[in-house]
Amino acid sequence: MSQTARTLIFVKPDGVRRGLVGEIIQRFERRGIRIVGLKMVRPTRELAEKHYAVHRDKPFFESVVNFITSGPVVAMVLECPNAIEITRQMMGATNPANAAPGTIRGDFGLDIEQNIIHGSSDPEAAAYELNLWFTPEELVG
Ligand code: ATP
Ligand code: MG
Repeated sequence: MSQTARTLIFVKPDGVRRGLVGEIIQRFERRGIRIVGLKMVRPTRELAEKHYAVHRDKPFFESVVNFITSGPVVAMVLECPNAIEITRQMMGATNPANAAPGTIRGDFGLDIEQNIIHGSSDPEAAAYELNLWFTPEELVG
């Protein structure tokens, strides 16, 4: 049985700079996924460091925090059955060079860091990220 779930997505600064926001939102809408929250924000260093806290000890941590804070992102909360799995499939592999054609990263990216979009990886990450990025008042019922 499929369970309705929520996931935290954001179009990264490269995707916003390249004008891909509309295309990406359209893909999710056409799939039938419900948007329950949506906003453009320039992430602070504090938000970025909390968001990528699981990668604190990785060699790319500083670099990815600098990248995510380099410009506005478009953050959204999406809802559908199996939202995390479905949206991760639509995003494609972390490294766009390995992402299948037809996925967002596979169609629009080449760079492992500037890979256009973020999506929560599991239910625990989704709960943590939703709370970090959105207040309850910013979400529709
Ligand atoms: P995201 O969490 O952004 O949705 P992901 O779950 O597919 O991506 P993670 O392993 O969580 O991938 O990595 C988080 C982000 O850090 C990647 O999306 C990418 O922007 C950056 N990143 C990951 N690996 C590398 C790397 N080897 N070199 C540079 N940047 C990297
Ligand atoms: Mg991740």
